[in-house]
Amino acid sequence: MNTRRRAKIVATLGPASSDPDTVLGLVTAGLDVARINFSHGDENSWRQAVDSVRRAQTESGKPVAILGDLQGPKIRIGAVPEGTEITRGEQVDIIVGSDASASREAGCLTVSCNYAALVDEVQVGGRVYLRDGELDLLVEEIHGNRIRTTVRGGGLLTARAGLHAPGAGQQLPAVTNQDREHIGFAVRHGFDFLALSFVRSALDLAEAGAAVHAAGGEIPFIAKIETISAIDDLQEIIAVSDGVMVARGDLGVEVGPAEVPVLQRRIIDAAGRALLPVIIATQMLESMVQRQRPTRAEASDVANAVWDGADALMLSAETAVGRHPAEVVAMMDDIIRRAESGDAGRAAVAHPIELKADAARTIAVAVAAAVEQHPQVKAVIVFTISGRSGRLISHVRLPVPVLVLAPDDTTLQRLALMWGVQPRHCPPPTDIDRMLREVEQAAVETLDLTPGDQIVLTGGFPLGQGEPTNFLKLHRIP
Ligand code: PEP
Repeated sequence: MNTRRRAKIVATLGPASSDPDTVLGLVTAGLDVARINFSHGDENSWRQAVDSVRRAQTESGKPVAILGDLQGPKIRIGAVPEGTEITRGEQVDIIVGSDASASREAGCLTVSCNYAALVDEVQVGGRVYLRDGELDLLVEEIHGNRIRTTVRGGGLLTARAGLHAPGAGQQLPAVTNQDREHIGFAVRHGFDFLALSFVRSALDLAEAGAAVHAAGGEIPFIAKIETISAIDDLQEIIAVSDGVMVARGDLGVEVGPAEVPVLQRRIIDAAGRALLPVIIATQMLESMVQRQRPTRAEASDVANAVWDGADALMLSAETAVGRHPAEVVAMMDDIIRRAESGDAGRAAVAHPIELKADAARTIAVAVAAAVEQHPQVKAVIVFTISGRSGRLISHVRLPVPVLVLAPDDTTLQRLALMWGVQPRHCPPPTDIDRMLREVEQAAVETLDLTPGDQIVLTGGFPLGQGEPTNFLKLHRIP
């Protein structure tokens, strides 16, 4: 079976998984990117998670990226007494622009909602969903700031639960004051990526980027695709993002579960054409929150996401609050490896790289050609300062290992998200002979190559000075 995994694993850290030993266990089991969800926890818990990741990275020698997930413009209801249940047929009134606690009178539950414009964005006969789509309300009447609904799908209602109404939320700011605080935290703690929730248009990404700049940082953005407006504006969003996430939880509430697989495939294809990494998120191994084994449908979902061309697959509650965080990562690792082995493994489809007056693109295409035309090539080794060549070469989906050597920790951590790329630390080479020795040593130690094996070597010359990639060498290990 395939001993190298190429699609990457993102796992959310939470109360079940933020301590140093558990994080080391996750990294050993295969975690590449640790997600910290700013919708849950507080500064202390996030700080502990960051410290644990960096410790695990030092102990394991494996670069791990930290991805901060910003809450973005989420509509919420107000306080609700604990244990409040709503049942089918019951009346629920939503009072917008208020934060009063929920109350029940004459059989009608009245809840508040933080978003005043909701009255203008829902229609009689439309649906409002609460608790990430678990509860389903039918809009019956709208009067002033009151939306009268009837419960269609009932259940437990929790305080400050998320509220969805398809297409609603247009007037909320893309980046809330709370998000700005979280951005400050991410900049101070050296986060490698930020994900922006409920992106509606490319302008939202510009606003988030400006907030990162204002906080004195430079962090690549992953756009979470989970609204109808984001689907409508997909190409523009992709053009200004550094990656995308198919956030299937909220997307499924917005468009209905049946449409999610169709959109997943469309988003993967669009991201691949733009040479961006794409993460598939939510409920991948959900039953393992409680159980030790996934359902067969979940195992197939993971494998199919790999075959669809995803760069990375994400675990949420499974690792954040689940009972067996390390076992879930190990299970995902096993499913991906099997999906990438044998006939299925050869199915990884390269993303066409348009040749422009750009040496790094030319070299990436040449690397693919060299591997294809020289079957004796056992690996590709890339020297990079910025990581750009590693990102580009990830998209040609090579059938051989790609080892990316870089001196900078942030570059290496960010490469941890990229499909098929193994990042490894290396001091900046000063001369060709020393570089070749570094390469030969890395090939033997990391890739188990032996003398006589042929590799493709690429980087920027003069060495170690941040030159864009401009050379390719077919090299035989002496
Ligand atoms: C999702 O909705 O699928 C998602 C990843 O977002 P969150 O976990 O923040 O709700």
